[in-house]
Amino acid sequence: GKPVALNQVRKSYNGTGILKNISLDISAGRFCTFLGASGSGKSTLLKIIAGFEYADSGEISIGGRNMAQVPARRRNIGMVFQNYALFPNMSVARNIAFGLETRRVSRNETRARVNEMLEIIGLSGFGDRLPSELSGGQQQRVALARAMVIRPDVLLMDEPLGALDRVIRQSLQTQIKDIQRSFGITILFVTHDQEEALHMSDDVVIMRDGMIEQIGSPQDLYARP
Ligand code: ADP
Ligand code: ADP
Repeated sequence: GKPVALNQVRKSYNGTGILKNISLDISAGRFCTFLGASGSGKSTLLKIIAGFEYADSGEISIGGRNMAQVPARRRNIGMVFQNYALFPNMSVARNIAFGLETRRVSRNETRARVNEMLEIIGLSGFGDRLPSELSGGQQQRVALARAMVIRPDVLLMDEPLGALDRVIRQSLQTQIKDIQRSFGITILFVTHDQEEALHMSDDVVIMRDGMIEQIGSPQDLYARP
C-alpha cells in the first residue's frame, strides 16, 4: 500500500461547505477508519480520493504523487461499497477479472490471479456462479476480491459491512484484517459502528460537519479515564 496525504481539501455543493479544510496524513499500510454522523462528509472524502469528485481546492497525494491531474481510471485504487455493486449478469470469476481487463494482463495471468483471489476469500469453486446465487456476505467477499485483484495502492471501503448481519460482519471483519496484513494494503474505511472502528483500525478519524473533530488510535479515543 501507499501513503495518502490530504492538504487543506475543501469541497462545497451549491455553496454549502461539505468538506472544510481537511488535512490528513495516512501512512502506508495503515487501517484508517472514518466515523461520524450521516452527512458529515465521509463518502465525499472517499469519492475525492478515488477521483469520482474533485475538490474545490487543496491537494491529494497518493504515494507522494499529486492526484490533481490523474483521472479516476488512472488511479490505482480499489473500492468496495455497501451494496456490493457486482455486475449481475457476469459470473463471479468475470466480476473479479473485470478490473484486469483494461490493464495489460495476459489471459493466463488473469486466470491465475482470479483463482488466487477466489482462494483467499474462501470461494474456490464458486467462479462460475452468478452473484445472485451467493449470500450477501459471499457477494461482499467477491467485491473485495474484485477490488484487490488489481493490487491497488489504496483500498477504499464505504460502509462495506452495513448491510450484513452481526455474525457475517464479524467474519468479514476478520477477513478484511487478514487481507490488510497479507497485502500490506492501505485501507480507508467508513463505518457508523464504533465497535467496528475500535476492533479494526490503526487510526480513527472522527468527522463532524465537514471537519475532522478528533483523530487518534482507538485506544486514544476510547480509553477515557
Ligand atoms: P456521509 O458519508 O458522512 O454521510 P456525505 O459525504 O455522503 O456524508 O454527504 C455530506 C453532505 O454532502 C450531505 O449533506 C449530502 O447531502 C451532501 N452531498 C453529497 N453529495 C452531494 C451532491 N452530489 N450534490 C449535493 N450535495 C451532496
Ligand atoms: P473467457 O471466455 O475469456 O475465458 P470468461 O468470461 O469465462 O471469459 O472469464 C473471464 C475471465 O475470468 C477469464 O480471464 C478467465 O481466465 C477467468 N475465469 C473464468 N472462469 C473462471 C473460473 N471458474 N475460475 C477462475 N477464473 C475464471
